[in-house]
Amino acid sequence: MTDALTSLTIAAARDALAGGKFSAVELTEAHLQAMGGASGLNAFITTTPEAALVGAAEADARRAKGETRGPLDGIPLAIKDLFCTEGVRTSAGSHILDNFVPPYESTVTGKLRAAGAVMLGKTNLDEFAMGSSNTTSWFGPVKNPWGPQDGKDLVPGGSSGGSAAAVAGRLCLGATGTDTGGSIRQPASFCGIVGIKPTYGRCSRWGIVAFASSLDQAGPMTRSVRDAAIMLAAMAGHDPKDSTSAPVAVPDFEAATGRGIRGLKVGIPREYRIDGMAAEIDALWRQGEAWLREGGAEICEVSLPHTRYALATYYIIAPAEASSNLARYDGVRFGLRVPGETLDEMYMNTRGEGFGAEVRRRILIGTYVLSAGYYDAYYLKAQKVRSLIARDFAEAFETVDVILTPTAPSDAFAIGENTDDPVTMYLNDVFTVPTSLAGLPGISVPAGLSARGLPLGLQLVGRPFDEETVLSAAAAMESAAGFDAAPSGC
Ligand code: GLN
Repeated sequence: MTDALTSLTIAAARDALAGGKFSAVELTEAHLQAMGGASGLNAFITTTPEAALVGAAEADARRAKGETRGPLDGIPLAIKDLFCTEGVRTSAGSHILDNFVPPYESTVTGKLRAAGAVMLGKTNLDEFAMGSSNTTSWFGPVKNPWGPQDGKDLVPGGSSGGSAAAVAGRLCLGATGTDTGGSIRQPASFCGIVGIKPTYGRCSRWGIVAFASSLDQAGPMTRSVRDAAIMLAAMAGHDPKDSTSAPVAVPDFEAATGRGIRGLKVGIPREYRIDGMAAEIDALWRQGEAWLREGGAEICEVSLPHTRYALATYYIIAPAEASSNLARYDGVRFGLRVPGETLDEMYMNTRGEGFGAEVRRRILIGTYVLSAGYYDAYYLKAQKVRSLIARDFAEAFETVDVILTPTAPSDAFAIGENTDDPVTMYLNDVFTVPTSLAGLPGISVPAGLSARGLPLGLQLVGRPFDEETVLSAAAAMESAAGFDAAPSGC
C-alpha cells in the first residue's frame, strides 16, 4: 500500500482522495516513511513531518465536510530550500544562511499552501542555486536515485537536485524548483522526470532567495506533464509584490495537456547540433522529431544564429546580478556573522567563511564585469548579445509554434566529476541557457535511456506566455515516448 501511494501521480492521487480511497494523512505518512528510508540520497535539508501531518489532517477535515481547495488539497510536495517559508529554516544551501528562519512566506509557496498542498520539507540545492550538479551545497551533495553506476554515486543535476531526486525517488508527488539557466530542466533530464521553467514573469519571485533577478523563475518538477500543469496553475499568477511578475491571466494548463498537436509547427534549431555532440543525444533528438511528426506535427528547421554566444553571455550576466544580489549578506542583517577587529574585517570574515568556492567565484566574476573600465566591454556587450538571442527566438516563432532540442548534452555524471573544471561544468547548460536569456518557457520531458541505462530528456521551448502549447506538445511527446522506467527500488 505504502509503495503504491508513493508511486502515484498528483492527478491520480487527487482522484483517489476525492473518491475516498485513502486519506491525505495516509498519503503523507507514506511519503514521510519513504523519506526516512532514503535519507542517504541527502535530498532534504530540513524535513517538516509534524507540520505536514497537521496540514494533511486539515485537508481530510475539509474533505469530510465536502469542501476542497482544488487539485492540490492534501497533496504532499517538497519545496526547494530557496523559497522562503515562514518559520521554517531557508538556507539556500549556504553556510551564510544556515540559521536563517524567514518571518514571511514566498508568494509561490503561499499559493501552494492556500491550495491545500502539504509541505514535506525543504530540498537540497547547489549553494544559492549556482551549479549543475548539486555538489556545491553546504549540506553536501545529493545522490541521484538512478545511481550508483560502476560503483560511483551520480549527481542528480543542479541546482534543483534535491527536488529532482525527491520526485524521482518517490519521496514526494511533486516539488518546486527554480531555474536561472537550466536548474529545473537539467536535473529533470538527469533524474527522468518532468520539469518546466515558465515564462519569466509567470510566477512571482517574491520571497525566493535571489540569484540573478532578470533570469530566476520558479517552476514545478513532477512525474508527468499533467502534474506539471496542475502544479503550475497553482504557482502562477500576477503578484503586485514582484514588479517583474506579469499581469496576465492563468489559463487552464491541465486542459491544455489534452489539446493534441495536429498541425503544430515544430522548429529544429540548426545551431543546436553542436560539435562533438554525443551520438545518443542526437539520436534521441531525431526520435523526438519523429514522434511529433507521427502525432501530426509539421517539422521544420529554424536558425538561432546567436546560440553560440549564449553561454558566455549568461556567465557574464548571471554572475553580475549575483554579485549585486549577494552584497546583502554582510553579517549584519541576515544569517552568519564571523566577528573581526573592525567592521571591514567582520565583513571579510563573514563572507569568506559563509560563501563556498563557487559562490565566491561568481561574485569575483560579477564584480569584475561590472567594474569601471570593464562594464562596457563585458556587461553592456553581454546585454546587447542577450537582445540578439531573444530576437533570434522571436524570428523563429514567426514560423514555428514550439522548438525541440535536447535538454542536456549528457546523462548524469558521477559526483566529483567536472568539479575542478568550471568550464566543463558550465557546458551542461548549453541547451537551456538561451531560453533563459530570452525569458521563454521551456519544459524537459523524459524521453529515453542512455546506453548506460540512465534517463535523458528532450526540451520543448515556446513563445512567451504560451505554456499551453508547450504543455500540449510535451504531453504528446510523453505519451509517444512511453517513458516508464524508474530508479531501482522505486
Ligand atoms: N547551472 C547554471 C548555473 O550554474 C544554472 C543554475 C540555475 O538555473 N539556477 O548558473
